[in-house]
Parts: sequence; C-alpha cells; structure tokens
Amino acid sequence: MIEASTENLIRKHTFANAYLHEGKADLSVVISKMMGDLPELRPQIKEMIPRVKIIIQDINNMTLTEQQKHIEEEFPGLLKKQEKIVEERKLPPLPNVRKEMIVTRFPPEPNGYLHIGHAKAAVIDKTYAQMYNGKMILRFDDTNPVKERLEYYDAIRADLNWLGIKSDIEKNSSDDMELFYRYAEKIIQLHRAYVCTCQASSIKENRAVGKGCTCRLLSVEDNLGRWYKMFDNYKANEAILRLKGDIASLNTALRDPTLFRIIDSNHPLKGDKYRVWPTYDFAAPIEDSLDGVTHALRTKEYELRDEVYFLILNLLDLRSPELIEFSRLEIKGTTISKRKLNHFVTEGLVKGWDDPRLPTLSALKRRGFLPESIQEFVLGLGVGKSESQPDWSLIESVNRKKLDPIVKRFFFVPDPIKLEVIGAPNVTVKLKNHPEKDFGERSIETKGVFHISREDAEQFKEKDMFRLLGLYNVKVESTSYSNLVGKYAGKELKNEVPKVQWVSDTNIEFSVLVMEDLITEGVFNKDSLKIIRGFAEQECKKLQIDDKIQFVRFGFCRIDSHNIAILTHK
Ligand SMILES: [Zn+2]
Repeated sequence: MIEASTENLIRKHTFANAYLHEGKADLSVVISKMMGDLPELRPQIKEMIPRVKIIIQDINNMTLTEQQKHIEEEFPGLLKKQEKIVEERKLPPLPNVRKEMIVTRFPPEPNGYLHIGHAKAAVIDKTYAQMYNGKMILRFDDTNPVKERLEYYDAIRADLNWLGIKSDIEKNSSDDMELFYRYAEKIIQLHRAYVCTCQASSIKENRAVGKGCTCRLLSVEDNLGRWYKMFDNYKANEAILRLKGDIASLNTALRDPTLFRIIDSNHPLKGDKYRVWPTYDFAAPIEDSLDGVTHALRTKEYELRDEVYFLILNLLDLRSPELIEFSRLEIKGTTISKRKLNHFVTEGLVKGWDDPRLPTLSALKRRGFLPESIQEFVLGLGVGKSESQPDWSLIESVNRKKLDPIVKRFFFVPDPIKLEVIGAPNVTVKLKNHPEKDFGERSIETKGVFHISREDAEQFKEKDMFRLLGLYNVKVESTSYSNLVGKYAGKELKNEVPKVQWVSDTNIEFSVLVMEDLITEGVFNKDSLKIIRGFAEQECKKLQIDDKIQFVRFGFCRIDSHNIAILTHK
C-alpha cells in the first residue's frame, strides 16, 4: 500500500518527465527522482514498482493536452520550472566538442546599427559559450573603412549590453593589420597569391568564364614588388591581391577571390595609417583561428565561401575552427539589408537608426520590446539551416506574454467623441492598475460627461446598452457625428453588454505612434507611420519616458516623450 502523498510525488515526477519527452515518461527516471526525494523508501522499492508502472502507463496514455491540463491543475509550480528547462535546451549540442574550451565569436562590422538578424547570431554565440562554460569574443570586423564609423562601435556595444549579451573578450580586426600583412607575404611566397592589375570589368568577365589573367603567371619576386607598390604607388583601383584558388572551379567563390584591396579612406580607429585592407575572406579565417575560436557560426549565405576559408588556413598552416552555418533571419514586412537600412536613414525616409519602424535593436527597444523577448524569440528559431520568414506577430506574442503581468493599465480614447449621460450620479470610481496584480489603483471623479472612441460610439444605435468599463451601464438615447447622448442604466454588471474605455471631462491630450510594415511590395512604405490622437486619463500625466503600459482595449505602449507613446503591439 502506497501513501497518498507518495502517490502524488510519483505523479509529479511522471508528469515532469513526460513533459520533457513528448509525453512519455521513463520508469527508471521516475524511480531515481523518487529515491532522491524520499531515500527512506529505498527498501520498499521492489513492492512499489508495479504501482509506479501503472501510474506511468496512465499518464503516458494521455494526450499532450491532457497532460498539460493535469500539470496546470495539480502541479502548476512544475510548469514554470520545466518551461525554463525547455527554454534552455533550445540549441542542439555543438559538433566536435573536444577537450579545449569552447570559444565562439560575434563579428559585426561597425558600419551600421545591429538589427534583429545580428541579435540572432549574438544570442546563439553567447548561448553556446554559456552552455559549455566557454567564452564569446566580440570582434569588430573593421577592415573596410569606407562606411565604418566610431559611432557604430559604441552603438553596437550599447545594443549588445541592452540585449543582455556580455562578451568575454573584445577586439578589433584592425589591430591585427601587421599580422595580416605578414600572412599575405607568406601566401605570396608560396606562389598562391598574386597582385592583379587588370581592370575590374575584365576581372569580372574572366571570373565568369573561369579564365586566368596574365598577372596570374608572374613570379613570386614580381608579385612581392607589386605588393609593396600597393602601399604607396598604385592608385586605389589599380591593384588587388588575389588568392590563386581554382579559377575554373564550379564553386565561383574559389575563382581567385580578392584578399586585399586599396582603400584610401580614413579609418575610425587607425586614421590614415593603412591603405591596403584585407577582405572578409582573408581576415575572418585568420582571426578566428588565432583567437582560438573553436566554433565559428555564420549565416548560410557564406556557405560557398567555406572552401576559401579552409584553403587560406591550410596554406598558412593555421588551425581550422569548426564552421557552422545557420539560416539568416528575415522578417516579413521589413528588411535586414544594411544597405537598405542605411539608405532609409541617410535619405531621411525614417528618423534615425532608432526609428521605431526599423528592425534595429535600438528601434525595437524604443518600441517597447523587452530584451528577454528578443532573446527568447531568436533562440526559439534555433540554428537550423531551413529558411523561414516569420512575421512580427511571433515576437509580439513572446513580448505580450512578458509585458502582460508587469505593466499598469490605463484608459486611452483614440479619436474621441463626447458622451453625455443623463441622470448619471456623480461617482468617484477607483480603478485597479492591473486586473490581477497589486499595482495600486487610481480614483477618477465622474459627473456624467465623458469621451469614448469614435469607433466604439459608431457601433451603437438608439436603445443599445453599453458599459463604461469599471463604472456603470449607459443606454443610448441619441447619436450624431459629434456626440452621443445616453441615459444612466444602473451599475449591475451584465456579461453580454459591450464594455468600452472612457475618459472623464478631466483628461489630457495624448498621441500614439503606430507602425505599419516598413516594406510593402518590395519598396519603402510611405504610410509606415501613423499618429493616433486622443485623450488619456489624467493619471497618465505621471508617466515617465520609457514606462511601459497597456492602454486598455488599445494595446501595449512605451512612453516615448511627453504625452506621446509608441504602440509596441496590440
Ligand atoms: Zn590580372
């Protein structure tokens, strides 16, 4: 005979284990958990097993929904604990984990602000480093000074900090220029790189048909001579250093890619110290290898360049990290193309990198997304290679779940029209700031004059009944374009009566910015920003910039400036 409390414990462990394994609990796990909790039962274990088996069988036979329901009702605490575990388990194990410490790196180029796609990479890099007690390097891949700015280094640091991603080491590729030059010479000495002085157009044509140019035939000495000339004699577009790859390879990335080019542009950190700059193809593998990166994760569009990556490391006799590619994050209705985002910002189509229409992290922050929501959203997408194009609703639902229990509720009446209630008592009503949580309350004096939204007002006809939320019922007497007249109809709460939010005659003007898709039919959506004007209750005077709230029946908002909010989402 097993005691009821012990039975209950068996059920709990069975549900817990089933929850983690698609509804199927395992006998040995349940038994070992039981023994962990109640070691004194050890001697009776043999007699208990048949009963445990029956319980497990019963639970395993339930559908997932049934199990979920039982867990919610009987063991709600369990759900929270398990959800956490499930969340932490979203990334699959890394391949080829050897004894040395796992090192990942996040290598943004400081030529713009981080967007949601970068967030995915950074979160994955950091999560893997944490999973294995390893390290994550933040490396500024700053070897193309044309568009790089000091402002962007700082913005990238600030955005990562906000996102909750802390790097263990920070470095700049531009600090390793002398090293890159030494490795370049080594490859020239090996006769595996040459300085090509052909016209860009002929390089392109030759590449397309897999044909080499005469520069390819130069001796090592001639190439070294040309290489040194790149540092002062040649003009910017007169010479590039190319890898002698496989000019006829089916993989076009191998057709003698550029390793160095001349860029006469001031570098944000190095000024005019250098003019011969390595390409990503050359710098990335060397940096990864020398920094001790064990697992280099990058998006799938680099896949064709893998062969170049490994070829360079092999030629230089450097250790090869494990390369892992994952799908690039595209979200419907927006773009993560840095070129396009840059264009929108510099052309003034949007108001800066934190314009809440953009998918940049600073914009998402301004819009009212929590960093935890972004982390959860991108981790939820995983590291698979399959392309998916989620829309904002997915990240919104994650954020809604997190905001709902922590933000205060207020009334906002968009596009307001006046409501007079005949026979209304003068009532001072106390409204709770949150339906469940104890976030206090505010009192509002009412004297029968209100504003409600036009959208609500327009659905009522004469004799309809509606309820002013938290207050009393009103029966419609007459309607017109500019106002609504109603009659007091008692306080009794009736389920079928529609409920509307309202403001009393003491209210404040308030505007809410509402974002539509940034891109429609492939081009910038000129109507991507709407301003909704209305009245908010007096209490909203006290709101501070960056406060997050819910306007009842309207949506979650972040206060952006005095009397202006941004709609985060419904
Ligand atoms: Zn050439």
